Amino acid sequence: MFESSLSFPPATLPPTADRLRSDVREFLKESHSLLGWTPRSNFMSTFSAEFSQSIGLKGWLGLTWPKKYGGKERSALERFVVTEELLSAGAPVAAHWVAERQSGPLLIRYGTEKQRMEILPKIAEGKCFFSIGMSEPDSGSDLASIRTRAEKTSHSWKITGSKVWTSNAHINHWMILLARTQPVSENRHAGMSQFLIDLKNDNIKVNPIPNMLGQHDFNEVVFNETEIPLDRLIGKEGNGWHQVTAELAYERSGPERFLSTYNILLELINSTGEQNNSEICRAVGKLTAQLISLRTMSISIAGMLERGENPDIAAAVVKDSGNEFEQKVIDIARQVLPIEPRQNGLNTEKYETMMAELIMQLPSFSFRGGTPEIMRGIIARGLGVR
Ligand SMILES: Cc1cc2nc3c(=O)[nH]c(=O)nc-3n(C[C@H](O)[C@H](O)[C@H](O)COP(=O)(O)OP(=O)(O)OC[C@H]3O[C@@H](n4cnc5c(N)ncnc54)[C@H](O)[C@@H]3O)c2cc1C
Repeated sequence: MFESSLSFPPATLPPTADRLRSDVREFLKESHSLLGWTPRSNFMSTFSAEFSQSIGLKGWLGLTWPKKYGGKERSALERFVVTEELLSAGAPVAAHWVAERQSGPLLIRYGTEKQRMEILPKIAEGKCFFSIGMSEPDSGSDLASIRTRAEKTSHSWKITGSKVWTSNAHINHWMILLARTQPVSENRHAGMSQFLIDLKNDNIKVNPIPNMLGQHDFNEVVFNETEIPLDRLIGKEGNGWHQVTAELAYERSGPERFLSTYNILLELINSTGEQNNSEICRAVGKLTAQLISLRTMSISIAGMLERGENPDIAAAVVKDSGNEFEQKVIDIARQVLPIEPRQNGLNTEKYETMMAELIMQLPSFSFRGGTPEIMRGIIARGLGVR
């Protein structure tokens, strides 16, 4: 018999959640007319420093962080409410998302006091944006095979290698880099460390990689004996694997893993009333039930984060099932509402444009943050069957 470490302990949103939810909704309505943003399904598709600053001013970034770092010391469950409202409104959150979701929490856990004091308050103000420096040309799923190396000299870390698919490295301020500080040994997970890279000032090359829509989100980031100060090491030298795993749990657990097609599901629900077709009603009912389950699991994970537990296996379940759910919404929408998807329609809020974007981007959603095969491997290991 094995003891499974996969569980979803029930968690309930606190009484303060309702008030917070209506404040966020009110803010979003005002912000929409003030800044004129177009709602987008993919949370990483619209970078607006202005919007991120306005959220920062409301005090909704770093909501759970200690006050001395610019946070509000509120609960992970309240943060869940803010994130689900921003995502379901399709708000332009790409600028601050990575910094607030994973880079800030990583620095709180492993950073030095100097790093925390210098960076966290700026993230909380919505003025400091981060990239993820994990993937490399031959290392994606198999992250332990990275080859970028950081060599310690008397006065610096000297970095050589390259990272790929680095979202928004051309516009963000910092990147958290995973690099080898020791050659590969029998324990492949040993000898890696994390570093802060100043994307604006360090001696690096950032080359664009256009995505399938021809847009510039991705980059290749090249280091050629790039020297950075010794105090840019995050946490302990050699502890990079352990730290990056903790970072990935933040990356995989949130409602962004199942809300990318939320607006399409709303369209589907609205249209079922008109169609009077029991097969369609059943399909849409199933999707709605699935969404409610995913949301309940995601709230449970917020509860685990609140208690300081590690939700990495539960997060892998939400990410994998969430991506499958998103795909199913699109498949059913294409059957039920056979409207021709159009890119760059006149009114970009329209269903046709959202569908066109989603059809082009959906394949990438299951890749970002780890592929289905990798998620299932993590779940199998967690269940003790691998
Ligand atoms: C939209 C988007 C944004 C991204 N942003 C970033 C970013 O900012 N920073 C960053 O570092 N990375 C980023 N990535 C990269 C992402 O993390 C990788 O794409 C992902 O980890 C997969 O790696 P890969 O592309 O090298 O694919 P591979 O690892 O080459 O995988 C290819 C296929 O093989 C399968 N496979 C691989 N290994 C196994 C195995 N052991 N068992 C079974 N099947 C396997 C995979 O499941 C997949 O289907 C982003 C990706 C996308 C799509």
